[in-house]
Amino acid sequence: MSELIAAEGLSRHFELGGGQRLHAVDDVNLAVAAREIVGLVGESGSGKSTFGKTLLGLYPKTSGKVRYRGETLPDRYRPADFRRLAKNMQMIFQDPYSSLNPRMTVGEIIGEGLRLHSDLSSRQINSRVADWLDQVGLSGDHGSRYPHEFSGGQRQRIGIARALILEPEFVVCDEPVSALDVSVQAQVINLLGGLKESLGLTMLFIAHDLSMVRHVSDRMAVMYLGSLVEIGSADAVYFEPKHPYTELLVASNPEPDPAVERNRESAAIRGEIPSPVNIPAGCRFASRCPKVMPVCREVTPELIPVQDATRQVACHLYS
Ligand code: SF4
Repeated sequence: MSELIAAEGLSRHFELGGGQRLHAVDDVNLAVAAREIVGLVGESGSGKSTFGKTLLGLYPKTSGKVRYRGETLPDRYRPADFRRLAKNMQMIFQDPYSSLNPRMTVGEIIGEGLRLHSDLSSRQINSRVADWLDQVGLSGDHGSRYPHEFSGGQRQRIGIARALILEPEFVVCDEPVSALDVSVQAQVINLLGGLKESLGLTMLFIAHDLSMVRHVSDRMAVMYLGSLVEIGSADAVYFEPKHPYTELLVASNPEPDPAVERNRESAAIRGEIPSPVNIPAGCRFASRCPKVMPVCREVTPELIPVQDATRQVACHLYS
């Protein structure tokens, strides 16, 4: 499969003042092929959302680069870059309510991208908006209403229509269903899956729930403290995790199938994720790893192929 977008050594740090620096994302290499869905998992605070936003240029890069269709994108976007790239790349946000302008009607919200980034007439835009309301399972008269009149699941559908009306090639879905009731989550996931097929989308799908990520993704990448620790096919990472962090994440994930038993007591990930301001030496997971060895506290493990080139793990158990 041909590469659509790739991060190369991508880092995003935040200066906190007093000489302190928060390492939200550190030296991440990740390529996404055209029409591929890569799931990105990890605990809160692992840097997943910051990585997605840096990939899209919503945050300037601290170092490294992003390549899109072979073109290296600017380190820091100017307004003209956003205008040019908005048609290619979009983001679906976690909280559908806070990302929708409460003073605009739903029709205005969904059509805004076309008004900014196309030469279509108002009539053509209204027609496209009506079409997209239909595609995401809302009715035409919903376009004249305001976001507060909708349920959480409906608002997420509005957010999806707003992001996809420009027919982008690449979409970052940042925890798109975590704010929704479980009963609505499956509807939105199925909607996204159907749109992915009909539009030929390429996605980075960020989520906490590993079983959901396995369900929607071709490959799964695991992030810990701003760094990738494992990547491989979604089934292989979920059913045969190799990195000790992935093993614990999978074992502590809510299991939708009661037939699959897991020892939850032994599955708990001990302690808190360390501060990204004080990155520990050696393996970042050493303070919580049940398999820690002396070398782990001194030498940083590289992400290297294990079994074959498609499966990579950063752990001294495999070096
Ligand atoms: Fe655990 Fe060592 Fe592997 Fe890190 S490198 S995950 S501390 S075994």
